[in-house]
Amino acid sequence: MLALVKVDAGPGLRLQEVPSPTIGINDVLIRVRKTGICGTDLHIESWDPWAARTIVPPRVVGHEFVGEIVEVGANVTGFGPGDLVSGEGHVVCGQCRHCLAGQRHLCVDTVGLGVERDGAFAELVALPMTNIWHHAPGIDEEVAAVFDPFGNAVHTALAFPVLGEDVLVSGAGPIGLMATAVVRHAGARHVVVSEPNEFRRDLATKMGASRAVDPRSTDLHAVQRDLGMVEGFDIALEMSGNAIALRSAIDNMAHGGRIAILGIPTDEISLDVNTIVFNQLTLRGIYGREMYETWYKMTVLVQSGLDIRPAITHRFGFRDFEAAFAAARSGDSGKVLMDWTDA
Ligand code: NAD
Ligand code: ZN
Repeated sequence: MLALVKVDAGPGLRLQEVPSPTIGINDVLIRVRKTGICGTDLHIESWDPWAARTIVPPRVVGHEFVGEIVEVGANVTGFGPGDLVSGEGHVVCGQCRHCLAGQRHLCVDTVGLGVERDGAFAELVALPMTNIWHHAPGIDEEVAAVFDPFGNAVHTALAFPVLGEDVLVSGAGPIGLMATAVVRHAGARHVVVSEPNEFRRDLATKMGASRAVDPRSTDLHAVQRDLGMVEGFDIALEMSGNAIALRSAIDNMAHGGRIAILGIPTDEISLDVNTIVFNQLTLRGIYGREMYETWYKMTVLVQSGLDIRPAITHRFGFRDFEAAFAAARSGDSGKVLMDWTDA
C-alpha cells in the first residue's frame, strides 16, 4: 500500500509503498478515506527536537482520519466491514489503575498512533477494536475526519461549565476555532478569542467569537471593559502553547476563574503564582479525549446543530502532501485535509 513515511532521522516525509498492516484477533483494519494534518505531524515532518527524541523511523505518520472497515479480527464484535469509523489515536494499556477504573485518558502507558505505532496517512490502518469509534449516521465525512482534534476542543471546552460564562480562548488554530464554536453552542455569554494571525481571527468570528483580538495590539482588560464585563473571565481555554498567552489569561481571570490548558509549550513557563493563589484560580491540564465520553459528546453536539465545518479550510489529494503540509504550516489555514479515496 502507499503511505506517508518518516524514512529516517531528519526532515521530510516520503510517499512510498510499504507492506499493508496485518491484524490480530482483537484488531480492526480500516481503508482510510480522509485524514487531517495535526501540529504533531508538522513536528515529525520538520524533525524538531521533540520528534528526534520521540520517533523511531521508519514510521508511517498521521492519526486524524475517517475510513471504512475492511476486515475485523476473530474476537471483534460490534463492528463489521463497511462501517464508517474513526480511531482514537491513544492506544492505552488496559491494565493500569486508571484504565481499570474506566479513566482511559489517564493511562500511564499510552502509545500514540502515527507516533509510536504506524499511523493513518496510508491506504490502510490497523487499530485494536477498543480504539474504534463507529460514526452515527449522518455525520459529515469531513467532520468525521477531524474527530480527533475536535475531541481535544470538546474535552477542553467542556472541562468546566460554560453556560452563561465569559470565556477567553487563547490561540485560534484549528482546535481553538472548534472550541470557540463549542463554548458558543454550550451557552457562553462572551467568547473572546486572542490570536495574532488575521486569517484565523476572521475564522474565529465565523465560529461565533464575540470579539477576535490581536494580543500584540489589544489589551484584554480593554476588551473586557468594552464588552461590559466587570470582574474578568470566568473560564479560559489556553490553546496556543504560548507563555505570554497563558500569563495574560491568568492576569484577566475573575476570582475563582478556571483555566483549561491544552496548548503544549516548547519550554518551561514561569507564572505569577501570587495571582493564582490570591484570586483562587484553577489551572487544569487537558490531554487527548475521554474514551469515549468526549466522542459521544462530539456526536450529539453535531446532531444538535453545532457546525465546525468553517474550521476546515483546505483540501488536497494525498499525492499533494507537500502542498498540504505547507498550507498547514503557513498559519493562514484552519484544518487541512488530505483525501485518500483515489489511492
Ligand atoms: P496551532 O499551532 O495551529 O494554533 C496555535 C495558535 O496560537 C496559532 O494560531 C498561533 O498564531 C496562536 N498564538 C501564538 N501566540 C499567541 C498568543 N500570544 N496569544 C494568542 N494566540 C497565540 O495549534 P492547534 O492544532 O490548534 O493546537 C492548539 C495547541 O494544542 C497547540 O499548542 C498544540 O500543540 C496543542 N495540542 C495539545 C493536545 C493535547 O492533547 N493536550 C492535542 C493536540 C494539540
Ligand atoms: Zn493504562
